Order: sequence, then structure tokens, then C-alpha cells
Amino acid sequence: ATVLRARGVVKSYGPTPALRGIDLDLAEREILALTGPSGSGKSTLLHCLAGILRPDAGEITYGELALGGCSEAERSRLRRTEFGVLFQFGQLVEELTAAENAALPLLLTGRGRKEARTAALEWLDRLGAADVADVRPPRMSGGQQQLCAAARALVTAPRVLFADEPTGALDQLTGEKLLGHLVRAAREQGTSVLLVTHSPGIAAYADRELSLYDGETDATGLGAGQRIGVP
Ligand code: ADP
Ligand code: ADP
Repeated sequence: ATVLRARGVVKSYGPTPALRGIDLDLAEREILALTGPSGSGKSTLLHCLAGILRPDAGEITYGELALGGCSEAERSRLRRTEFGVLFQFGQLVEELTAAENAALPLLLTGRGRKEARTAALEWLDRLGAADVADVRPPRMSGGQQQLCAAARALVTAPRVLFADEPTGALDQLTGEKLLGHLVRAAREQGTSVLLVTHSPGIAAYADRELSLYDGETDATGLGAGQRIGVP
């Protein structure tokens, strides 16, 4: 079944459209890599799909729910409860430990401290970061910080995880290790993932790849072909 559907999504910041009519279907449990050159519209599309940006035209539906018909408050509730977001830099709270950071989304939705801490510790463990549970971000490596941010994004058991260059600030090996943990954890709990990346090594973790070029989906597949060196 389709979890998230986009039809004819158009978005401009100025005179030139950043998205020129995007169609996309994200299936239940699917891990979809959104690739393409810098400036092709990947982040803009992710922000529209996650209900952060409103498209100028077109329709985005989450299950039966049309995001266009939702108020800001409804979209913000969706992001807290149904969606998870993970960006290039984890944006952790520096004064809190990894476990406290990862527990935050549950505390914000009214869950008790004990339950939130238990779930946070479980997720840190599942992602291979149990050893930094009581460490604060300034004393963690970049990779550990992103694992903690991933635990925070997944702790609410979201239906969809939006990940925008989640490994962009990490070296290749650390990035692939993070993706390995992330993909396995998402599959285990049935979370769909929309993964924005420009790295072929990272895109290889996805079930499917959708390539953007200049605000359009690359129907020729040329982008992907060039990427892996096919003439
Ligand atoms: P990508 O994620 O593929 O690098 P973006 O979605 O960030 O692409 O950008 C798509 C196009 O929209 C680019 O031309 C970019 O300069 C432009 N753009 C993105 N965000 C803004 C913004 N906030 N204001 C103006 N132009 C923007
Ligand atoms: P990405 O790494 O996804 O390509 P960028 O580095 O292009 O993102 O953009 C970083 C931030 O700057 C984003 O919030 C984006 O919306 C904004 N931005 C990108 N291009 C422009 C632009 N031409 N004018 C204003 N803001 C922009």
C-alpha cells in the first residue's frame, strides 16, 4: 500500500520553479533514495512531503489525508507523531545526554519519564550507540551524534522517516555504518524511509532510487546511468 503520494507538485521560491510537477509514491516499508545534483530540488521535495513547506500546486496525501487541507497545527502534530525527521546535522540539545535527547519526542507527546527513557535506551541500543547513552553531544563523535539523532527520529515509531543527507557530515565508512543501522531498524519496525542523498554508496542501501534533475523526475534514468558510469 502507498503511505505517501505526490501528484503534480510544483514549488517556486522566485521566478524559477524548484519543483516542476513531481509525482511520487512511497510504499509501506519502502526505502526510497531521492538523488540528483545539488540544486535539483531534493530538499524542497522532502520539505513539501514532510508538511514543512506548502507546494504552490499539486497534491500530497498521507494515507487518506490531504496535507493541503491541513492546518499548520495539524501538520505540526503529524510531524511529531507520524513522521520522523533526520537532517545532516543532528541538532541535538547540548545540555542533555544522548538518552535524554532521544527521549524528547516522547516527553513532548505526553509520555511519562520512565517510559520515554526506556524507549530511548532501546533505540540507542538498536542503533549501536548504547555506549554513549549518558554522554552529552560535545563529547560524542559526529557519527555518535547522528546515531543519537536517528534514535530521536525513530523513538516515536513513525510511519515515515524523512532523512535529508543524514550522512553528509560523516566520512564514508561512518556514514555507511549509520545507514546500515538505520535501514535495519526501519525495516524491523515497518517505517518507510525517504532518503535524500547525493552519494551512490548511500543510495545503494535503498530499495529504489528516484532521481531529480532541475525540479523534474529523471524519467530517462540518465542521471542514475551517469552516476554508475553507464554510457
Ligand atoms: P537540492 O536539495 O537538490 O540541492 P534544493 O531543493 O535545496 O535542491 O534547491 C532547489 C532549487 O531551489 C535551487 O535552485 C535552490 O537554489 C532553490 N532554493 C532552495 N531553497 C530556497 C530558498 N529558501 N529560497 C530561494 N531559493 C531556494
Ligand atoms: P542542500 O545541501 O540540501 O542542497 P543548500 O545548501 O542548497 O541545501 O541550502 C541550505 C539552506 O539554504 C536550505 O534551507 C535552503 O532552503 C536554503 N537555500 C538554498 N538555496 C537558496 C537560495 N538560492 N536562496 C535562499 N535560500 C536558499
